Amino acid sequence: MKTILIIEDERDLAELVAFNLEKEGYRAMTAFDGASGLEAARSQLPDLILLDLMLPGMMGMEVCKILKKSEKTAAIPVIMLTARGEEIDRVVGFEVGADDYVVKPFSTRELLLRIKAVLRRSLPDRPEGKILQIGQVTIDTERHQVGVDGEEVILTTTEFKLLLNLAERLGRVQSRDLLLKNVWGYNYVGDTRTVDTHITRLRTKLGPAGDLIRTVRGFGYKMEEH
Ligand code: CA
Repeated sequence: MKTILIIEDERDLAELVAFNLEKEGYRAMTAFDGASGLEAARSQLPDLILLDLMLPGMMGMEVCKILKKSEKTAAIPVIMLTARGEEIDRVVGFEVGADDYVVKPFSTRELLLRIKAVLRRSLPDRPEGKILQIGQVTIDTERHQVGVDGEEVILTTTEFKLLLNLAERLGRVQSRDLLLKNVWGYNYVGDTRTVDTHITRLRTKLGPAGDLIRTVRGFGYKMEEH
């Protein structure tokens, strides 16, 4: 059974979401502010976190950044709950590292679709482990570990899948649409800017090896050795 942690200060909403998730066979946990949400994430290691952007005290973005920086919690997918007009680009973009977002008010059906898509993405789907070496980058496909010049780089599940998609098709250009389909899944209802923001973040995390990922203007991306 998958556990979902809901960090949301509107208690009625948090409890309604928890109720609906449990009806669908998930185990739901609630936290009503950022600090206790972080604590629950660290101690319970849920399979997914629904995180409200506007929280009292520590804001959702801050909570997300801390989760994504910690080795223990970086791989837990985060779906941000935002109000219309809030800074969605920053949420799914470089600064925060959320895996997806849902705009309030949302329907239960919409939320469940997003949850399913994000959980599907985070499934380990390569039981046969292998090590890929591309320039300074080492990718351990079984352990989901990435290193640059021997230093470990902590990636989110989505970033890892994106890197693997590029690395396994070395030298071949992949369109944003194809990457969106392969990394985010068929049912993903997002646009190709999502790919761009994740590529930007991935390049930054790869540091000196970031330029192994090339932009092919007007088309997409490819990974290539120097
Ligand atoms: Ca709120």
